Order: sequence, then structure tokens, then C-alpha cells
Amino acid sequence: MRATAARRPKAQPTYSTIVIGAGFLGLGAAVKLVEAGVDDFVILERSDRVGGTWRDNTYPGAACDIPSLLYSFSFARNPSWSRTYSPSEEICAHIEEMTDRFDLRRFIEFGTTVEGLSFDEDEGVWTLATDRGDRRARTVVVASGPLADASFPAIRGLDTYAGKKILSARWDHDYDLAGKRVAVIGTGASAVQIIPELVKTAESVKVFQRTPGWVLPRVDFATPKLAQGLFAKVPVAQQAARSALFLGHEAMATGLVWDSPVTTLVARAAKAHLHHQVKDPWLRRQLTPDFRPGCKRMLMSSDYYPALQADNCKLITWPIATLSPRGLRTSDGIEHDVDCIVFATGYDVHLSGPPFPVTGRGGRSLQQEWAKGAQAYKSASAHGYPNLFFTTGPNSGPGHNSLLVYAQGQIDYAVRGVTTVLRNDLRYLDVRAEVQERYNRRLQKRLTRTTWMSGCTSWYLTEDGFNASMYPGFATQYLRQMRTWRLSDYELAPGGVATAAPHRRVG
Ligand code: NAP
Repeated sequence: MRATAARRPKAQPTYSTIVIGAGFLGLGAAVKLVEAGVDDFVILERSDRVGGTWRDNTYPGAACDIPSLLYSFSFARNPSWSRTYSPSEEICAHIEEMTDRFDLRRFIEFGTTVEGLSFDEDEGVWTLATDRGDRRARTVVVASGPLADASFPAIRGLDTYAGKKILSARWDHDYDLAGKRVAVIGTGASAVQIIPELVKTAESVKVFQRTPGWVLPRVDFATPKLAQGLFAKVPVAQQAARSALFLGHEAMATGLVWDSPVTTLVARAAKAHLHHQVKDPWLRRQLTPDFRPGCKRMLMSSDYYPALQADNCKLITWPIATLSPRGLRTSDGIEHDVDCIVFATGYDVHLSGPPFPVTGRGGRSLQQEWAKGAQAYKSASAHGYPNLFFTTGPNSGPGHNSLLVYAQGQIDYAVRGVTTVLRNDLRYLDVRAEVQERYNRRLQKRLTRTTWMSGCTSWYLTEDGFNASMYPGFATQYLRQMRTWRLSDYELAPGGVATAAPHRRVG
């Protein structure tokens, strides 16, 4: 990349770009940056390993509920997925393998936590404050992920409980559950994977449900050796299988994204699954949701309902009044003494921006602007924060398809933004306020017709009910918009600074 006048001493390199996070998306961005001829960049990763949320989520039963052939990048094929839905260790191993295959470790600075970002408009440079000193770059790709942070929920009496507390997203493998009385709080996507494993080892499991979710069977097979061999030898066969899965998931949008007659069919299918697996009418009633399918994330499991009916498992639907030193008290006044509480209560989702302050042009604060709900242009650029490109940004979430399919569109868009700044020697590239406003007006209007806005509470919405997370359409539409790059959507300022140019080995 050609650069203009250097204004900084060499001791502080100014990278062409900095990628925040070495999870699936940060690594995917790195692959595409190298492909685009950008190699003076660094990936800042707070942990000492790649993998992001898949590195962190090691709870028993952790697996992806989207088929692996689709939950992977098309440019980083893995012909040997062991199952339809791979377990988390296999996904982590794939991410490690992808890191080596594309020789990405040389770019990663492990053990470096980003604490803040600020943009110098005169220089056209972002300074990233980290716990290991400042880093500078002309552009930044945010790939820190929406489900990277988790903490115990604000439940009354949390600190009084004297037993073992485990957060699903930070599993403590040193704690032996055998023979223990365990409580699980939460019945979302993580819980339905954990509970079937817990009932196999714990003495007893009490599941505290606040809201039952819609559950569809998860048809999970070991991949036949023949298919693995075929995928290895004939990549186009794997591509065809992926395309078929993609189209199958796209079809689900008609019922899960929009509230339509297909939504009613999905409800019927889920009820049939419930009827088939649960014979007790009272339990069935307790497990029947009162919201439209799609409003909250669909749960995919064939072993959750059987686990709930195991002799050592009990579903509790009374609200939790408080935690107490020995367990939980529900609002019917019953004390549930347990040795361990598993909190499968979700994540600290970053609906108001990344988990560090971002200061843009004229000292504006992204967290302040997004306090009531994030807004961006095509989920990737935010006015006033130039040369900054988000992955899994506002309204980029899929309700029916693979996040990694959407991610590919985001990565390509971000790389296009980075190369536009570098190739045109721009000081900055800032999306126009009116373009962003027009985009969001339309988007929010389209969101009103979706299942997510049909009256349930979910982590997709802010406390005020603003949807800052989901994309109201087919993945195909999302990808089409991400493929279209219109320079006229952006305000351009010429005169970028010199970059580190020679690539530096770090980490
Ligand atoms: P979640 O879907 O947000 O579920 C949290 C559960 O905890 C809900 O049942 C919630 O009840 C309950 N809960 C939260 N706070 C509570 C409280 N104070 N008292 C009682 N109950 C409480 O979280 P998650 O299961 O970790 O999943 C989060 C996201 O991670 C998913 O939507 C998905 O995107 C992703 N995920 C993906 C996979 C995969 O296979 N790809 C697997 C796991 C997770 P309410 O419903 O009443 O709020």
C-alpha cells in the first residue's frame, strides 16, 4: 500500500489496519486482508489463544446448532467435519487449523486487551489504548464479537449463596459434578445443550425456567466416511451440500423472520415434537411457549425434553425469589438446597457498541450515541467514526441462517473499506449522516413486521424494545447489500499518513 508523508517517529508504527479479536471473524478478516494485499496489520487478542466464543464456551454438550458445513467460511473449507452439528472442541480445532493454514499467527498479538479507541481527524489515525500500551492504525476492523462477555445476572441474594456458581460461558472443568445436587437457571440455547449432559452425571438437576422456548429436533448424524472422502476430493460436492443447506435455511426465514402462516407451521412442528417427546400434559403445558416462533432464538435439540423427564431431573417454573446461602428460594416459598448453580443466563450483549469507549470525529462518543440502541450503515460503518468497520455490527444478526454466512459479507465489506482508504491515500472515509439515517429509517420500518418485534423479550432488543441486533430479511439480501460498495455513500478526506509498511512479527 502506498502512503503519504510520514508524521510519526518510526518507534510507533502506524499500521494500515488493526483487527480487534482473533475469533472466527477477526481471523476471517485477516485472510481477506492478506488476499487484498494488505499485510501490515496486527490482530489484537486479549486471550492467549484464537477461537473467541468457541474457545470460551466449553460447557458440557457445547456444540453448534447450525450445521458445520454452513457454520464455517466458504474460503476455509473443512471436508472432515465429524458430524452434522460439530461439538465446540472440533470447531475450536478447525479455527486453530485455519489460523495455521493461512499463516495468521504472525499477525496476532496475544494477551492484549483493547481498552479504548480514539480517532485523530487531522492525521486520519486511530489510537487504540491497550493494557500493553497504545497502538496506531489508519483503519480498524472490530471483530470482538457480540457474545464475548458474560457475567452472573443480577439475581437477588447472588452473593449470599455459599455453594459453587458456574457460568455456562466460563465452565469450571475442575469442579466434579458427580453426585452433586445441581440447579440450572435458564432454558435458552446454552441450557438445552447443558442439561442433557448434566443429568448423566449429577445426582439431581433442578431446571429453573422463566420462559419456555420453541424447540425443534436436531437431526445430528456422524458424517459418513464416504462423504468426507468425497468432500476432500471433490470440493464442488461440498460446495453443493453447503448451498443446499444455505437454501434450506433461507426458506426458514419465511417463518422465523416474518410472522406468517409459515410461522404457524413452525409452531405446529415444534408442538408435534413436544407431544412426541413429552407424554405428561401438565409438563407439556409448562413447556409450551406463549410467543411466536422466531421471536426468541429457536432451540434445536432432540435430547432436551427427554433429559427434563429423567428420574433425577425436575423442571421448576415458579419464579426465583432469591438465592440463599444453601440454594434458591422460589416465590411459592420453597427452598431448593443445591451444591452448585449453573447460570445459563446468556451474555452481556453489546447492544450499545463495543465494550470499550470509542471516540470519533470532534470527540463524539459512540457509547453515548448508541446508549438507546446502536445504529450503523449496513451494520458496518457509523457516521462520525471514520475508517472503522464493524463485523457483527448493529442489525447484522441472522434469525434463521448461519452467522458465518453473514460474517463473510461483513468481512468483505470491511476489507473493501480498508483498501479504499489505503489505495486512495485517504485521511478518512466517513459514511454520510443522511445515508445512514435513510438506511435505518427503512430498516426499522421493515423490522416492525418481523417476529422479533411480536411481543416477547429477548436479548435482541434493548430495554426500550429497540431492535439493534437483527437484520430483517433473507441472508441473500444482506449479502447483496454488503457486496454493493458505493463510494458516494461516504465523505472522503484526502491526505493519509504513512503506515508501518514492512510487516512486523509480533506475539
Ligand atoms: P439466552 O438465550 O439469552 O438464554 C438465557 C436464559 O436464561 C433464558 O432462558 C432466560 O429467560 C434465562 N434468564 C436470564 N436471566 C435470568 C434471571 N435473572 N432469572 C431467571 N432466568 C433468567 O442465553 P444462551 O442460552 O447463553 O444463548 C445466547 C445466545 O448464544 C443464543 O441466542 C445464540 O445466539 C448463542 N448460542 C448459540 C449456540 C449455538 O449452538 N450456535 C449455542 C448456545 C448459545 P428468559 O427467556 O425469560 O429471558
